[in-house]
Amino acid sequence: MHDFSRRGLLKATAAAGAGAVVIPGAGAADAAAASAAIRGAEGGTCGPAELTGRIVRPSDPGYADASLGWDELFVHYPLVIVYAQETQDVVNALTWARQHDVALRVRSGGHSLEGWSNVDNGIVIDVSELKSADIDTASLTATVGAGLDQLEAVTTLAEKNLAVTTGTEGTVGLSGATLGGGFGFLTRYLGMACDSLIGAEIVVASDGDCAQVITADAKNNADLLWALRGAGNGNFGIVTSLTYKVAPLSSVAYVQATWDGISDLHRVFDQWQRTAPVADNRLGSQLEIHRGQILLFAVLAEGTEAEAKKLLAPIFSIGSPDVTTRIGNWGDIYTGFQIPTEAEPANWKFFSQFISEPFPKKAISVIASFMRDAPTDDSNFFTQAFGGAVRREPRGGTAFPHRDALFYSEPGAGWGTRGVPGSGDALTPVAQAWIAEFSQALRPYVNGAYVNVPNIGMQEWETAYWGANFDRLRQVKAKYDPNNVFQYEQSIPPAFC
Ligand SMILES: Cc1cc2nc3c(=O)[nH]c(=O)nc-3n(C[C@H](O)[C@H](O)[C@H](O)COP(=O)(O)OP(=O)(O)OC[C@H]3O[C@@H](n4cnc5c(N)ncnc54)[C@H](O)[C@@H]3O)c2cc1C
Repeated sequence: MHDFSRRGLLKATAAAGAGAVVIPGAGAADAAAASAAIRGAEGGTCGPAELTGRIVRPSDPGYADASLGWDELFVHYPLVIVYAQETQDVVNALTWARQHDVALRVRSGGHSLEGWSNVDNGIVIDVSELKSADIDTASLTATVGAGLDQLEAVTTLAEKNLAVTTGTEGTVGLSGATLGGGFGFLTRYLGMACDSLIGAEIVVASDGDCAQVITADAKNNADLLWALRGAGNGNFGIVTSLTYKVAPLSSVAYVQATWDGISDLHRVFDQWQRTAPVADNRLGSQLEIHRGQILLFAVLAEGTEAEAKKLLAPIFSIGSPDVTTRIGNWGDIYTGFQIPTEAEPANWKFFSQFISEPFPKKAISVIASFMRDAPTDDSNFFTQAFGGAVRREPRGGTAFPHRDALFYSEPGAGWGTRGVPGSGDALTPVAQAWIAEFSQALRPYVNGAYVNVPNIGMQEWETAYWGANFDRLRQVKAKYDPNNVFQYEQSIPPAFC
């Protein structure tokens, strides 16, 4: 981890004289060249900043709720939370944080699976109330505020029979998902969410402890757009709006199958991994293995229920699954399979893994054995079929590298009751150990990890998330955030540090 404290930087700056920026380990020439890339609109100076927007402080009644993320395993006590109402609020908050030497984190949907969108004694710059949507049906583009969650994005686009890929959980922030990649039922049809990202408005740190709004698209700061497509989570700046290329989608067929018990697991899993990643690109599917059942969910874009069942027939021929189907507008189907947050366990721990060769029998036995000992009924082993459109990078490329994956998988443990602090404490060490041992046992069969489901404590997370793209990401970081203002446990360090 690269952790250059802001206080250390400020002290170094003072020693070097007013206005100079000294970066530990960096040559003066490197630092000067890098900081020249980002100049404040005012030529490197800005007046004292004041916080604007909806501000929540520890003494405010809403503070406890505002401090809580989706995963209650992580509890933080920030100094202040700024809910931006417009881009200028973000500029003010970033400038204020820099001028006051306060740690900062960026938050949208609050689902960070390590609690990294919050920080003790720091400022949380929250964009979740930036809720605009401007859809151009002629050019098939949509510019949305960074505060939309996935349910809002899916349903707003679906009203016009349009879509982009999102993840499956509606309450996840569209920004957080897209900036780390973003896969879901439409991935094999439309690619990753980040593949459709064609522009972004982003507030970056500029000279003199200031902040500046810039655009990243094919013509402006194209290197930053590349980086935002898969590595944009809290690394380069605060994204305030996102522009997507959207695709027509008039209806989908939705399929759900349930096998009681996991005695059919070997055959179901093996057939799924040989069918789903190479099926018709319109078919997206997931397996969810619990200790008492196997679930399969699938979406066929622009297809019929009969077609979907036919494509999945090799899997459904195993055992006696209970199969249900529905057809409808993507927004209605997506809304229909949402689980209310209150009904979900309070604490979660996942471990992300990509798979590029089918799991051998031994690996499936590992899954069966760990799932039999799962700490709770909600704990599961989740997979998402890749292949199809994921294999094609969009023009300009993406920082997201896992193009050859057959599928994504994650063991996940969920425990404890929402709103009942401490209710899961007894299970916490059990669940943590189960995840650690489960993911370790699968290591011989996996290849890479997903930054949106970060693996804390993993060796070489940099290449696991981004492969050979990591060096270029460090160059982009050095250009847009040379002072490493945006940093957290697994953030990208500038090239010269
Ligand atoms: C229940 C659940 C289901 C999931 N399912 C899927 C799935 O199907 N597919 C999938 O791809 N992923 C899935 N994920 C992972 C999900 O994509 C990530 O957790 C995502 O980063 C969450 O985004 P957020 O905005 O809700 O979270 P936040 O906690 O707000 O942010 C997550 C990260 O992104 C940064 N960030 C957020 N907004 C911005 C911004 N505007 N500018 C710059 N940085 C920003 C934060 O600083 C933080 O590092 C799932 C997660 C959960 C909890």
